[in-house]
Amino acid sequence: MVSPVRHLRSHSQTLTFRAAAPSAMKLCVIGAGTMGHGIAQVGATAGYDVSLRDVDEGVLTDAMDSIEENLGGAIARDKLSESEAADAMDHIESTTNLGEAVEGADLVIEAVPENEDLKKDVLSEAEELAAEGTVLATNTSSLPVTSIASALGDPSKLVGLHFFNPVHIMALVEVVLAEQTSEETATFAAEFVEALDKTAVVVEDAPGFATSRLGAAQGVEAIRMVEEGVAAPGAIDDGMELGYRHPMGPLKLTDVVGLDVRLDILEHLREELGERFRPPAILRRKVRAGKLGKKSGEGFYVWEDGEALAVAEEFR
Ligand code: NAD
Repeated sequence: MVSPVRHLRSHSQTLTFRAAAPSAMKLCVIGAGTMGHGIAQVGATAGYDVSLRDVDEGVLTDAMDSIEENLGGAIARDKLSESEAADAMDHIESTTNLGEAVEGADLVIEAVPENEDLKKDVLSEAEELAAEGTVLATNTSSLPVTSIASALGDPSKLVGLHFFNPVHIMALVEVVLAEQTSEETATFAAEFVEALDKTAVVVEDAPGFATSRLGAAQGVEAIRMVEEGVAAPGAIDDGMELGYRHPMGPLKLTDVVGLDVRLDILEHLREELGERFRPPAILRRKVRAGKLGKKSGEGFYVWEDGEALAVAEEFR
């Protein structure tokens, strides 16, 4: 019988596995920022014992507060009972000690900043401290997983697990197969995603994987259209929201992702795939001016309290 993962290597597709029983399994998450605390939350809600590690004690305190707040939101929406939420909180421990965090872990996921050398260092250190056979994963959104794997003693144990923001809401996880990822590791990763009640899309380790590449392609074209005066940002976004049923237009989405993050991804994709991903001048100009989108209060829109109030002045 053809294994699902090998089959996938020739016919990229969405995989559904029987969920692994998470009881007594331990997940270690390294980096407790935007993504790390979300991954810890969904792991704990699914029944994993979770250790959340960061170098910054303050980040860990904020992370635990955010998780508690998100779980409160889930109770309010009738997605979780009070006791399930309390149980999830009880499943999470936070620490600044890496050895403690990886001890007994079946899976270690790193969610430290998007820097290849840092990710290599963090994962090799975790590999040294973890028990033999522990599966390692990177939450990189664009770096080559194959190259990160090359830093490990056993690169067959590494896989990309690309979560989406906000992790507790988004249903997708891209499972990225490095050249060296073994079938056993890939299957373990896909089963883990299924146990989180999310859908795994398995992709090869190509620049931008599937989602970042397509998302960037649409975003960059929308920015060029603004530059060429084809239409105002609001009209372009309305077009895709109402005409194509996208939940959010490409320019608003660029604001949410962060213009600086988009610029980094485009630079990387341009290097790997060519001029079609060349970052538009308007994007560089805005990043230089510190207009980074939702997080800074202005990008293609003006933002307040997490809401887009109006199109930025220069496009009116
Ligand atoms: P973030 O800056 O919010 O969090 C990173 C955390 O890592 C920080 O809290 C930092 O203190 C911690 N850290 C740094 N060095 C560390 C170390 N050696 N050990 C432990 N912790 C360390 O970043 P983020 O937005 O959560 O992104 C993390 C990863 O997830 C990146 O690779 C990013 O590309 C990817 N990603 C981000 C998003 C997103 O929307 N933000 C979406 C998908 C994937």
